[in-house]
Amino acid sequence: MSTTLLDVKHLCVDVRTPTGPLRIVNDVSFTVQRGEAVGLVGESGSGKSMTAFALINLFPSPLVHISSGEVWLEGRQLSTLSPDALRAVRGARVGMVFQDPSTYLDPLMPVGRQIAQTLRAHGQTEGCEARVLDLLNLMELAKPAQVARQYPHELSGGMRQRILIAAALAMKPALLIADEPTTALDVTVQAGILRLLVRLRQQLDLGILLITHDLAVVAQTCQRVNVMYAGELIEQNEVAPLFANPRHPYTQGLLRSVLNPQSRASRLFFIPGSVPMAGQALPGCRFHPRCPIRQPGRCDLETPALAPAATDTGLTRCHLAAGPAAADAWREDALALQAPQPSP
Ligand code: SF4
Repeated sequence: MSTTLLDVKHLCVDVRTPTGPLRIVNDVSFTVQRGEAVGLVGESGSGKSMTAFALINLFPSPLVHISSGEVWLEGRQLSTLSPDALRAVRGARVGMVFQDPSTYLDPLMPVGRQIAQTLRAHGQTEGCEARVLDLLNLMELAKPAQVARQYPHELSGGMRQRILIAAALAMKPALLIADEPTTALDVTVQAGILRLLVRLRQQLDLGILLITHDLAVVAQTCQRVNVMYAGELIEQNEVAPLFANPRHPYTQGLLRSVLNPQSRASRLFFIPGSVPMAGQALPGCRFHPRCPIRQPGRCDLETPALAPAATDTGLTRCHLAAGPAAADAWREDALALQAPQPSP
């Protein structure tokens, strides 16, 4: 029976500016069950990384803060913990892996010692070397004792990412947040890291929140997916129905560019325009300047809610999600009908 590990409720994140707060994550809610991998997908600037940072209050700037909402992990509300209590949760109950392992590893320290540092930071003084070797074995690294003595520059990119995952899992956390963990790796190495994450999830009953811009990565790794656009969730579903029947025009565009990139007259498919700037005020649907089926007078004025589309199991933030127009927003006649507007 699945149990809820992470429960994010109506999370809002703001940036303090001289002219007032800017909302960069708006009303985001989702869950991760124990032993489940959930994707958080979107373009650069969609708010997915800020959402992940908000879970453990690890923002890159003191100007960014949670303005409202709740983050519950294993029945405890993290958003109200003191800084000391939250520090104890990071690493111990929540591990985090980032995009470029070179940035997070000390070039002057053997990688085994770096993994052991996580254990010592949480008060473990005995058995650290044995635990490091166990972790390197778990990461499927051959000759773990030799690897533990090596420096980051002596390892490949894929091996360095496995070292970061080992460090993130050292304290046996219940949740792993992986922020674009394969983006800096070449395709064959990427496949190996994704297979490793799938095995770790199953073997350790680990909850994984996978942040990525790549729906193909989600398809290989996750059970459920949340699609973000301009700071909001715009579609939420299990992976299979989302891939079979995406209801939001943005999700359809993302899928079309991944699954059928040459679909339009032998040209690479892309969604015209760009994501609105963080915090930019935009009336109506935040996707309307780029949407090929937008309805003038409605989509540019009324904000759609994240709601069930009648024909599907998931939630979609689109006025037309239940109707026939949203079946394939990017079909040729819809594109001919309305060329997308440039983003303001
Ligand atoms: S049809 Fe309207 S509400 Fe739906 S995504 Fe397009 S602009 Fe937004």
